[in-house]
This record gives sequence, C-alpha cells and structure tokens, in this order.
Amino acid sequence: MTTPLSILNSVFGYHEFRGTQAAVIDALVQGDDALVLMPTGGGKSLCYQIPALVREGVGIVISPLIALMQDQVSALRELGVRAGFLNSSLSIQEARQIELALERGELDLLYVAPERLIQPRTLELFHQIKISLFAIDEAHCVSQWGHDFRSDYLKLELLHREFPNVPRIALTATADIRTRDEIILRLQLQNAQQFISGFDRPNIQYRITQKNNPKIQLMRFLREEHAGNSGIVYCLSRNKVDQIAEWLSSEGFTALPYHAGLSSQIRQKNQERFLREDNIIMVATIAFGMGIDKPDVRFVAHLDLPKSIEAYYQETGRAGRDGEPATGLLLYGLEDVVKLRQMMAQSEGNEEFKRNEQQRLNAMLGLCEITSCRRQSLLRYFGENLVQPCGNCDCCLNPLKPGMPPKLCKWRFLACIARVNVLVRVILLMYYAAAIMKKFYNLVTTNYLPTILANISALTNGNRFFAN
Ligand SMILES: [Zn+2]
Repeated sequence: MTTPLSILNSVFGYHEFRGTQAAVIDALVQGDDALVLMPTGGGKSLCYQIPALVREGVGIVISPLIALMQDQVSALRELGVRAGFLNSSLSIQEARQIELALERGELDLLYVAPERLIQPRTLELFHQIKISLFAIDEAHCVSQWGHDFRSDYLKLELLHREFPNVPRIALTATADIRTRDEIILRLQLQNAQQFISGFDRPNIQYRITQKNNPKIQLMRFLREEHAGNSGIVYCLSRNKVDQIAEWLSSEGFTALPYHAGLSSQIRQKNQERFLREDNIIMVATIAFGMGIDKPDVRFVAHLDLPKSIEAYYQETGRAGRDGEPATGLLLYGLEDVVKLRQMMAQSEGNEEFKRNEQQRLNAMLGLCEITSCRRQSLLRYFGENLVQPCGNCDCCLNPLKPGMPPKLCKWRFLACIARVNVLVRVILLMYYAAAIMKKFYNLVTTNYLPTILANISALTNGNRFFAN
C-alpha cells in the first residue's frame, strides 16, 4: 500500500520525517486544510508533494516565481514524479501539452503561477479534472507584499469558493502573528490546522552594526571571515546592486548582480551560476532569493536596512541551510530609514497598510538598536521565547560595558527624528544643534540623551512624552 512513509523512502530517499512534516501530511491526506510555518530548509515542499502523491488526482502548487517552479519540477522529474508547470515562460504549444496531460490524468503535481491560475480558462480546465490538493507556497505574499507586488495572491480566496472540497495548504517560511492572521483571513483558512515550527536558526550568527564606511566594512568582512565562500549581499536599489557587483568584481571577487531591471535571461543565468558554482557572491535586491535552495550559503550581508524583521529573518535565513556556521551581517544607517519611509509613503496600499509597514520598520529599527541578545528579540517577534541569551550574536559576543555612553548617540538621535512628527522633529533638531556646540556636547550625550530617547520611543508608541 502507498503510505506517506513509503513514498518518503522510495521516491525521496529519506528514512524518516522531520519536525511537523508527518502531522501536516496526515492532515492533508485526511482532507483537512493546513497552515504551515516552517523555517527555510525545514522541508516544506514535502508537506504537499507527498500528500499529492498519496491522494487521487493532481496536486496544484501555486508558486510566485517562475525560476523556482522550473527548479522544483526538474528536481521532481529526476525523482520520477510526473510533474509539470504552467506559466508565461511556456509557448502556446507547450502549455497545450501540459493541459492535455492534465486532462488525461498524467500528472501528479502541477506548478502554476497565481496570475495563470485565476484565468477563466485555467479554472475551467481545473473543474474538469480531479484535484488532490491546492498548495499555496510563499503564502506571506498575500499579506506582506500583497499590496505592492502580488495582488494576484489576494484573488486566491476563490479556491475556497470554487473548489470547496479540495484540501488547501498554505506555506511560508516566516510570518508574525499578524501576518498569520491575515493569511488565514484572506485565504479563508479559518478551519485549517496550524503547524508552526520553531524559528530559531542557531547556526546563523546575527550581527548588526552602523554604516561608517560600508565598502570597507564589507571588504573586511569578506576578506577576513568569508574568503572563498558563497554568499548574498542585499542592497535596496538596482543601481547600488550594479555598482557593488562591479566594485567587488574589480576587487577580485566573483560577484554577480541580480535585480528586476535585468533581463530574465541574465537573471536566470546568474541564478544558475550561483546555485551550481562555488565562491560566488550574489549582489541582489530582494527580488532574489525567494525559494532559492542552496545549502552552503555562508553569509548574507545587508548593505541597507530591510523593511521589516520578517524580511530580515527571511533573507538571513538563506544562509547556513546545511546547519554549518554562517553569518548574517547588517549595516544600517539613517538614510536607509528615510528611503524606506519614502518608499512606503509612495506605495499603493491603503492607509492601514502603510501604517502597518511603518510599524514593521520601527520594529526592525528596534532590533538594530537593542543592546541585549538579538536572537531573543528576533524570536520574541515571532512569538517564541528563548530563555537564555544565545551567545551567537554581536550583542552576546561583545556586550556593552556598564557605564559606557550609549553607542553612537548621534545616529540614534537622528533615527528618532526620522520617526516622530514634524513638531517634535523641530524640537529635536534644535536640541541637536545645541548639542553640536561643544560646550553642551558632553552634557547632552552622557546625561540627558538616553532619557530623551526613551521618552521619544515612548511617544512613538503612543505614550506620554515625559515619563515621571
Ligand atoms: Zn545573542
């Protein structure tokens, strides 16, 4: 008899299930819906691939990235699984072939882009065939990026209406409690069983520091700690990606650019080189990396501030999937905050969405500014409690000595200014101007500034300006 375990052994070559995999698979095989939160590298795809093979019919996997679909489908075919994909990279004839295979029941798994799925023609086809399950991969696209980049994900709630009897599984590597709630709401997964795995990635060393001279900081990091390693350098803009990639190449590294402004051929070529070759540094915007499965990425360096803790967690999570030591280095500065705030203000989302984005950015800044264990703080954000400081983040490794003045007060001061309203900003700037004058400088930085900063933080959380 075909059981999930026998498929795991015979098709995928693993001896046993990991973590929550077996429970998720059971739920789907029974016909229940599931919401799965599993860190990258936790074995998410087996959670839908195996039930799709156990249940009758074809499993439909909704995936946001064409490159990712191609990778997964070729990997599955190598294992002898009848898999295919439908997306805009296929010619009309090729798409027709896939449709015919579907009609004849010759596929076990079909990967499809969301914009293709919601077309009437596709839905009509799906109504004519037997479907074992719907898997919605990278389900946070419905929330975190929904308004900006993946509006098609918002339409996926139609699956529930059009195919009420087909079990659905939504998967993501990261989602805070609010995103989780939004996924449930938007995809109508109120009755889904939830499977939430631990978020800790103990082999990743988190380090966050201010930008002084980012090029020198990066160069030192690469030369002294990661010579000859594969890694990713994230930048906020396409321009900067091009510049940094060029500069690293001129310094003797094999560095490739990746961003949405490059042609799809170049992107694909660079991605393939990164996956297959060693010692390649991918310099990229956030367009790179979703679903990238390269086990030996030894570092992820951010040259700009990510826009949320979720993004930071997900991007650093691409390092060290093999469980070996890896580093997440983040260099941040005030200009990042200003740029991100502008981008958020200009985005198309409604006011509530923009407010949420701002709050997420503030939480990210908070993570940068703390002087206690970063991992504890990071995990707390995802609702997890790490009892002891981790011993593997910069705050644990280089604790601030008591009595030292707050680290780089000037920057923190400016960061606060970026967060508050205009009136408070004017007051703070006046204060800052006074502080620059040497005779006040000592007084301000060592005595009053921490108190003021605490008050401003309190203010941004809706509390009173002056605490007692
Ligand atoms: Zn720590």
